[in-house]
Amino acid sequence: MYPSRFRYEAPRSIDEAIALLRDGGGEAKVLAGGQSLIPLLKLRFAAPELLVDINNLPGLDYHKVDADGTIRIGALCRHADLERSAILPAKQPTMAAAAPLVADPIVRNRGTLVGSLCHADPQGDWASVVTALGGHVVAHGAHGRRRIPMADFVTGPFQNTLGYDELAVEAVIPAPKGTPAGGYLKLERRVGDFATAGVAVAVELSGAVVTRAGIALTGVGGATVDATDAAQALVGGELTAERIGEAAELAARAARPRTDHRGSAEYKRHVVRTFVERILTGVSNDSTEKVAA
Ligand SMILES: Cc1cc2nc3c(=O)[nH]c(=O)nc-3n(C[C@H](O)[C@H](O)[C@H](O)COP(=O)(O)OP(=O)(O)OC[C@H]3O[C@@H](n4cnc5c(N)ncnc54)[C@H](O)[C@@H]3O)c2cc1C
Repeated sequence: MYPSRFRYEAPRSIDEAIALLRDGGGEAKVLAGGQSLIPLLKLRFAAPELLVDINNLPGLDYHKVDADGTIRIGALCRHADLERSAILPAKQPTMAAAAPLVADPIVRNRGTLVGSLCHADPQGDWASVVTALGGHVVAHGAHGRRRIPMADFVTGPFQNTLGYDELAVEAVIPAPKGTPAGGYLKLERRVGDFATAGVAVAVELSGAVVTRAGIALTGVGGATVDATDAAQALVGGELTAERIGEAAELAARAARPRTDHRGSAEYKRHVVRTFVERILTGVSNDSTEKVAA
């Protein structure tokens, strides 16, 4: 199918983009990587009057680490940039683990992390990662910038809290207070598929003790699941088998999967439990080796 007719604009500054969005009065859509929006247009599930293509905006294609360890990902940083990042493997293991698991190489060349957060697909991998890391989105509108914590950014499937005249300009991961560790595991039916179930785990360690933890789940609820009880069970102690088992069980209970062609709800809960255990056991083994060395 062909998309409905729309006006196309490719502004060269953020202010121009915001003015266009404001003029669009809610009938405009931002085009970033287009990997979710273009299929929606072709199926006519979205029929905006105006498309504001942000790909010509300068200076938004970065991902970088501030001096204090804060990580910033600009609105035009592609999934592939994060997959090939020289920064993430050392600075942010949960992001480094997730980057190669998002979609397939063709989609990763164009799609953006910020676009994925804005799209708010319950099966979006980055939303779980940024939630587990306690990140936020920076929105730029006519009255300046505001920070929206990831926990408040997504209001439901394919819905976010951006105003119609706001552009998400970057995603921010706060500086860790300890040594960052964690991972992302995803069960997919074939390479490049959306998650049957995905688990993001991010912990910060002081020695072997967990000082902060985040666990978020992909594809097992109507929106990204922030498994706060599971994460809280880890804080203040070492990653013993007992604590890991408790966190895995609480995460499985937090999941709200539906039985469908990808598997039964109970099977998906089992996958969540197994993935949490697997990631945390890996972190525990690594930290034991480092403390012993
Ligand atoms: C075959 C295929 C497989 C895929 N598999 C996966 C997968 O396994 N895991 C996964 O997570 N994703 C998957 N995706 C989705 C992909 O990751 C998209 O890149 C992502 O969801 C959207 O990013 P985008 O930059 O392409 O955004 P776009 O498609 O351009 O936009 C998506 C939505 O976000 C809005 N938007 C985008 N950027 C901004 C901004 N800066 N400010 C305000 N609003 C904005 C748009 O208006 C639109 O509503 C897949 C896509 C395809 C086509």
